[in-house]
Amino acid sequence: MERKEFRELTPVEDARKLVSRIKVLPGIEYINVGNAVGRILAEDVLSGVDVPAFNRSVKDGYALRAKDTYKATEPEPVALRLTASIPAGCADRFFVNDGETIEISTGAPIPEGADAVIMVEQTKQTEDTVLIYQPVHIAENIMRAGSDIMKGERVLRKNTRIGSREIGVLASIGKMEVPVKKLIVGIISTGDELIEPGEELKPGKIFDANSYAIAANVEECGAIPRMYGIVPDEGKLMEEALDRAINECNIVLTSGSTSAGIGDIMYRIIEDKGETLTHGIAIKPGKPVVIGMINGVPTIGLPGNPTSALSIFNEFVAPIIYNSLGVAPSFKTKVAAVMGTGIRSGGREELFPVGVVRGRAYPADKTSGAITTLADADGIIEIKAQTEYIEAGSPVEVTMFGNARSPDLMFVGGQCPGVDLLEDMTGKMIRTLNMGSSAGFTAIAGGTTDIAGVNMPGAEGEYNLPVIMKMGLTRVVLVKGYRRELGLIFRPGKGVAELGDLPGLRLINRNRGSGTRAILDMEIGRLAAQKGISRAELTKTIEGYNSGSKTHRSVCDAIKDERADVGFGLKAAAEEAGLAFIPVTEDEFDFVIRKDVMDTPEIKSFLSVLSSHEFSERLPAGLRTYERTGETISLPEM
Ligand code: AMP
Ligand code: MG
Repeated sequence: MERKEFRELTPVEDARKLVSRIKVLPGIEYINVGNAVGRILAEDVLSGVDVPAFNRSVKDGYALRAKDTYKATEPEPVALRLTASIPAGCADRFFVNDGETIEISTGAPIPEGADAVIMVEQTKQTEDTVLIYQPVHIAENIMRAGSDIMKGERVLRKNTRIGSREIGVLASIGKMEVPVKKLIVGIISTGDELIEPGEELKPGKIFDANSYAIAANVEECGAIPRMYGIVPDEGKLMEEALDRAINECNIVLTSGSTSAGIGDIMYRIIEDKGETLTHGIAIKPGKPVVIGMINGVPTIGLPGNPTSALSIFNEFVAPIIYNSLGVAPSFKTKVAAVMGTGIRSGGREELFPVGVVRGRAYPADKTSGAITTLADADGIIEIKAQTEYIEAGSPVEVTMFGNARSPDLMFVGGQCPGVDLLEDMTGKMIRTLNMGSSAGFTAIAGGTTDIAGVNMPGAEGEYNLPVIMKMGLTRVVLVKGYRRELGLIFRPGKGVAELGDLPGLRLINRNRGSGTRAILDMEIGRLAAQKGISRAELTKTIEGYNSGSKTHRSVCDAIKDERADVGFGLKAAAEEAGLAFIPVTEDEFDFVIRKDVMDTPEIKSFLSVLSSHEFSERLPAGLRTYERTGETISLPEM
């Protein structure tokens, strides 16, 4: 199949205009108020009853005739004869005559003959007499029938989004069925690599995130999602799914298969069956988007990358849903932030995903296709086409995704269960990017993280400080963390005893740039020296030495799944995975923290937990604090 190039990208403004003209007619259905949150009223709602339905007392007190109280004063109270008592909810009929009164509770119906209620505080009851110390006027403390809502009154307007207040109103007029708009949005995920969340994850497969994320977004807009599941990258199957969805839905969304790559055929199908309105919009992320019309049903092919799919949904699908439902877009939270780093833009309009940490925005767009960007982004910033560079420190406005709560601290570095414990114990939300020690050092140097978690050995056996010195990092402090037992990890019974056993076994190594990988390199170097050969000669005999797993956990998974025989990593990870472990060495896992955040409450709490007795007690097997835990070292600024 030929490759299609995106030569002509539609400018964002044109694409916005295009979608603002697309509108479909929703149906109507009657649903129970209990299921109506977020839906859009299809008709005005008129009240069939008065609220309240009867005159009622708004105070605990005594119902009486106002004229009987006009002469009452503090020194000379008026005495009325008490004849009965009416609790709330009472349906019995009572009558008040001249000179009489009836005790009444808040919310209870006013007895006939009475025209006012005096508060209990302004009276004194003795046996069957009530002394009145103050006059009341007619209608005092009485809420008249229909004074809240009158029968026949319009209480809610058509096109109102139903929320808690609306549900309160509907319930208070006793209405349990409401007419709402029925706009069905079909959702199809495409891709041979996708499997249903909940199923067993097989090699090469990923869970279908888009179906669920898009369905939730559709619901948030007030429409009804209908999922058609996962369709493989096969023209005929995709066509069948699309046909069904077009038949049953008002709008159809697909995700995946829109880029002009080989095997990506969605846009061809839309082209064949209907009319393509645009294919490719000049924004990042997610320019591969198709907007088309098949049999009057707007059909939008969203990019497969989940972050892109959701950004494009917000920008170009939500407006179609809102137009069709006749509602204004629901409120999007915008927050003011400053850029934590500079970002370069490609000379076209971009919707740039960012993470926001304590008011600083960081690019979350690592590489297009990284699924983690979805989890690491809190919102988007819009970058105008003419902007080429936004400097660190520039103010930006972030449109937040849904109810995203932005994290308290940003952490980049090696994966460690001790960090999970720190997060739990501080109660702070830490955005953790497990990319290895080198990435941690790079991020802290570039100012894109608050904390780097590192275990990089130096030549003299000193951890991490040599790297800081070599990189000339002066705006950071090194906080010594804890020691971790590292060693060989393998399936029980595999007969591994020492490093020297590695040749002949299949190793699953850590990624280059991880401290643990560097430590194994050193250990292997030492072993090679003992044997009188070069390190390269020794590693050549170890199958898989060049593999690169990103976390301790993924190393353990590879061993469990028998994709490898042995790995090198944390005892804590081996135990968690139920694998055997033989210790080889201990490392030092430390934290490099930016000086300018040292005084924040978040970092203070992080450091106080690190030095606490409880933290030391709760560390998993193979991790231990020691005399240097909490020690702070900073290089003098030049
Ligand atoms: P595509 O647009 O099909 O080229 O997909 C782009 C990227 O998004 C690929 O890495 C896909 O594996 C990924 N992707 C596609 N569909 C989904 C989905 N439903 N959930 C999660 N990731 C997806
Ligand atoms: Mg695909």
